[in-house]
This record gives sequence, structure tokens and C-alpha cells, in this order.
Amino acid sequence: MRELIIGSHVSFTKDEQLLGSVKEALSYGANTLMLYTGAPQNTNRVPINKELTLKAHQLMAEYNIDIDNLVVHAPYIINPANTDNLDFAITFLKQEMSRTEELGISKIVLHPGSHVGLGSDKAITNIIEVLNKVLNVDSKVTICIETMAGKGTEIGSRFEEIKQIIDGIKLKNKIGVCLDTCHINDAGYDITDFDKVLDEFDELIGLEYLKCLHINDSKNEISAHKDRHENFGFGTLGFDNLINIIYHPKIKDIPKILETPYVTKEDNSKERLYPPYKFEIEMIREKVLNNNLIDDIRTYYK
Ligand code: FE
Ligand code: FE
Ligand code: ZN
Repeated sequence: MRELIIGSHVSFTKDEQLLGSVKEALSYGANTLMLYTGAPQNTNRVPINKELTLKAHQLMAEYNIDIDNLVVHAPYIINPANTDNLDFAITFLKQEMSRTEELGISKIVLHPGSHVGLGSDKAITNIIEVLNKVLNVDSKVTICIETMAGKGTEIGSRFEEIKQIIDGIKLKNKIGVCLDTCHINDAGYDITDFDKVLDEFDELIGLEYLKCLHINDSKNEISAHKDRHENFGFGTLGFDNLINIIYHPKIKDIPKILETPYVTKEDNSKERLYPPYKFEIEMIREKVLNNNLIDDIRTYYK
């Protein structure tokens, strides 16, 4: 039996870069990870350090981590759906692509963005234009369009829209999809019948385009269009449904990335300090819900 590919969002610091990200992932018992190469909300980027990248690759080899399962997330300030400055989106995304390539990572997740009044058809035309300008034959990086919750005027909450985007892409071998479980629930897909969701995805888009999964529980009911992540097993999707998705035989080899929220301190101050991933990954591997998850995390990191 091939191994489950599970990891989480991790940090990427100026001082340790990918090496720090890999160490963090290992501390969670993960065998993959996702990172932003800089703050998601701004464009300040430090140059990729070759030596740190090399050390990170050596550490991954030591722990049998396949670099092909790692994922970069593009910053969400890029809105390829509606921007009066398409050139900015293109230039910045190109830069993120080469940074991803410098790290040796082959997938970058991108939010299709929000149309903000433009209407979805025009927005999809914009997204296609940006992607066709960014993708080139020599690039080793695949852009994975993320399925969205449909908050506000977000594009990509329906598989139909994702398909429309892919249809317009010239280099189809460089495009993929990242399915986010919280987002599709909030968008209106019934994940309690995940076989049906996958069938629909396969019919419309094609399962071969599915390159990454974001595993999150949701704070909201189906069709809420909210996008608020909850810890694994503690939201409306629930433990059994999420386990069923993670171990689904049709998507076995696809990396699964947790983006569940950090846990607050006991005093319930708003500050979210403790990463839940070590304990969530443990539950996922054991397939048993830990009802004391939050307390266990607080005790461990205190
Ligand atoms: Fe995302
Ligand atoms: Fe996500
Ligand atoms: Zn989200």
C-alpha cells in the first residue's frame, strides 16, 4: 500500500526559508507541506537562498519526502479576475512561478479571484488571459486553480467555472485544480456523498486535473458561501466525512494539505498561537477522533 501524502500549511521565514519549512513539517509528522514564499498580502520577497534550498532537499531525501508533493500558494493579493492592472498580476505571478521553480517545487495554488462587479464571464476572460501569459512551455510549474467558497463575487465556486477557465488555457499540461473541502461545502457541494462530488468533477473537468487537496473542516453549513475553516473533525463536515475523503481510493496519490486554524490560548484571547497539525495528522493516521484535540494541543505547546 502506498503511503498517505499528508501535510499542512507551514511558514517560510527569511532566515531559514525552505529548510525551516521542511523542519516544521517534520515536527508535525507530515510528508508534504505548503508554503507562501512571502507574506500573502504583500509583494515583498526575499531572494531564494540556494544553500538553504539545497539543505532542505537533503533533509527531504533523508526522510523520504518527495519534492513533487510540495505546494506553493500564490499570494492572494493577485486578483486575476478583476484588475485594472493586468500587467501587475502577470509580472508578479511570473515572479512567484520562478521562485517556486527555484525551490524545486512543481505546483503553485492560485485563487481565481473575485469579479467585483465585472460579471463572471469577463472575469473568466481576464483569468484566462493572465494564465496564458504566465504559463510557458519551459516552465516546470503547474498552476492549480483553487475551488472557492463563493464568498462575495469569488470566481471558482462551481466546477463549471473552473472548466471554463481550463478550456481557455493553451498549455493544458501546466494547469490543474486544487480542491478545498471547506470551500466546496460552503459553495454547495454535498461532501457527505463524496463519490458523487468526484464523479461530477470527473465529468466536467476530468480527474486528471486534480493535483492537490486542501483539507479543512468548515464552521458553516453547506451553501453558506462563507469560507471559515474549522479544525479537523470539529466543524460541519465532521471527522468521518473528512477521513472518507482523505482515504478515497480515486485520489490516493494526491497531496492533502491541512489549512485548519491555529488554536487559541486557554484564556481564549483572540491570538491564535498553537498549530494543530501534529495532532490532526495523528488523528488522520489513526483514523480516530481525538475529542480532547484542543486541550492536547495547548498542553503540548505550552
Ligand atoms: Fe487558498
Ligand atoms: Fe484552501
Ligand atoms: Zn479558505
